[in-house]
Amino acid sequence: MKAVGKLREGPGIDVFDFERPKPGPTEVLVEVKATGICGTDLHFYHWDDYARKRNPGFPKVLGHEFSGIVVEVGEDVRSLKVGDKVAGEPHIPCGNCYYCRVGKAHICENLRLYGVDTLYGSFTKYTILPESIAVKIPDDIDFEIAALFEPFGVALHAVNDAEIRPGDVVVVLGCGPIGLYIQQLARISGASKVVGVEVSRYRLELAAKIGVADELIDASTTDPIKQVLKLTNGRGADVVIEASGSVVAIKNSLEIAAKSSRIVQVGTASRYVEIDPNVFINKELRISGIFGRLMFDTWYKVIELVRSRKVNLLQVVTHKMSLEQAQEAFELLTRGEAGKILFIP
Ligand code: ZN
Repeated sequence: MKAVGKLREGPGIDVFDFERPKPGPTEVLVEVKATGICGTDLHFYHWDDYARKRNPGFPKVLGHEFSGIVVEVGEDVRSLKVGDKVAGEPHIPCGNCYYCRVGKAHICENLRLYGVDTLYGSFTKYTILPESIAVKIPDDIDFEIAALFEPFGVALHAVNDAEIRPGDVVVVLGCGPIGLYIQQLARISGASKVVGVEVSRYRLELAAKIGVADELIDASTTDPIKQVLKLTNGRGADVVIEASGSVVAIKNSLEIAAKSSRIVQVGTASRYVEIDPNVFINKELRISGIFGRLMFDTWYKVIELVRSRKVNLLQVVTHKMSLEQAQEAFELLTRGEAGKILFIP
């Protein structure tokens, strides 16, 4: 079967033949129906420090945002059966450490990431994953929507952590798929104003087309700090959610935030950022980071939100491609000329 990933060190992406894996006793074999490309996959394409440090070997199949059908179960699997519709939670917790035992498995001390730390991933026809991280999805939810539960779950975790209250002005830095999802969730959480900030023309146009944000700021031509202050009578935002990981945006978040406001950092910083603690002391800012999704509280809430039709996960999808088009897909994302790209294996 065809797979997309890495056959060797260095930049680039490979399309290669990969043997269909056999599930272990506590694993399930899943026929992948839809799988999205994430920023993490781009680390491997560019072969940066993150990829060099984490790569488990070759051949390596990439991909960790996906949905599919269980086609085989290991002998000890009890909660899933052949024919079940599932989506993959990429965090593989150990189940025994302090954090796993206090209900925070998503930040497990021995955490491994499916599709990152494993040789198998979802950019192929059949993949294996532990039963414990295969989330059963109701039959009435489409595969393409279920493949987006993972990034949407990150957005939901962030918005829950931000504790948006009705009337809040919410500024979202970054209009990638997760930033766009955060805009939707801020809207239904009662924000009086949702402001999106982005530098990519393509992503600004996508955000404008989706039309959730009240204001979009092109940070390549406009100073977002001045603009947010102008929109808030000089006070700043009640909630800032940083979803770009850009060093400039992270620094800006402290200036955009009003006194006594909340900043949630979602985007992984592209490099070390120096910030002045006196800014968040004097402003009494509450700054938090979020990592992945709550397991599995976030998942159950995502399922119910999708069923309520209060959110639209598909609107960030700009391309559906075959595995053979992987090269083109990664080039589009590198140029910032795509929202979410789904592979349909
Ligand atoms: Zn653990």
